[in-house]
Amino acid sequence: MTTPQALRLLEHRPVGRDAFHLKLQRPDWTWKAGQLVSLGGKQPNDQRDYTIASGENDETLDVIYRLIPHGILTPYLREKKAGDTLDVLGPYGRFTLRDPSRNILFCATGTGIAPCRAFLRSTPGLSLTLFHGVRYPEDLYFQDEFQSVDYHPFCSREPYDGVTRRLTEALRTCILPEDPDVYLCGANEMIYEAEEILAGRGISAKRIFKEPYYYRAWD
Ligand SMILES: Cc1cc2nc3c(=O)[nH]c(=O)nc-3n(C[C@H](O)[C@H](O)[C@H](O)COP(=O)(O)OP(=O)(O)OC[C@H]3O[C@@H](n4cnc5c(N)ncnc54)[C@H](O)[C@@H]3O)c2cc1C
Repeated sequence: MTTPQALRLLEHRPVGRDAFHLKLQRPDWTWKAGQLVSLGGKQPNDQRDYTIASGENDETLDVIYRLIPHGILTPYLREKKAGDTLDVLGPYGRFTLRDPSRNILFCATGTGIAPCRAFLRSTPGLSLTLFHGVRYPEDLYFQDEFQSVDYHPFCSREPYDGVTRRLTEALRTCILPEDPDVYLCGANEMIYEAEEILAGRGISAKRIFKEPYYYRAWD
């Protein structure tokens, strides 16, 4: 669709140090898990992309965003309250689940966990190994939803379970799932580094799917 739809905000809550979960009224269109929407701001140029964090059949359209205090759109989003509306355009994007029957390795930094949540909520029972890299333990949002998968959290600035470690350090030495499809989402530096490590570990570039969110240092 090309005209934004004004969707009502049903819930807006913090989920980490600087991340927030928006639950919006379900639009009159459907989406595939892993697709995104464009959210509008005060000016036409303010719109930004966000992966839909809810499942294909969920009752709400969810987004998880990290507040960038000097940013254009996220400070505007932060002011929104339940009952307000947001201009939503979508769905877009091709970072969708390729083959649910394969072993999946999903590597996410920060809010890059959103498509993984959408995959699992849409297709429960995936053979999924999840690496989630964040800065602080409080940023390991939605941990309780990943109980059924092989979940590996990593914190780069404060210890989690006594260990301070980057996701990519673990990727160098971990036991990989057999012949996996790999999904990489979040900070572009993680994606570049992970691709290099995975190539060195014999994973074909054809089996790696990527969704970079932003371009700057990722911790
Ligand atoms: C395909 C796609 C999907 C995306 N999905 C999500 C999502 O689900 N959740 C989400 O939070 N963001 C997502 N983003 C990033 C989002 O579109 C915005 O760029 C981000 O929210 C910042 O918007 P802003 O207008 O507040 O900041 P801007 O004014 O656009 O940017 C200010 C500065 O902050 C940097 N920046 C942007 N995002 C981050 C970040 N997370 N951490 C550190 N620095 C950052 C930018 O590179 C820029 O230098 C996605 C981006 C793309 C391309």
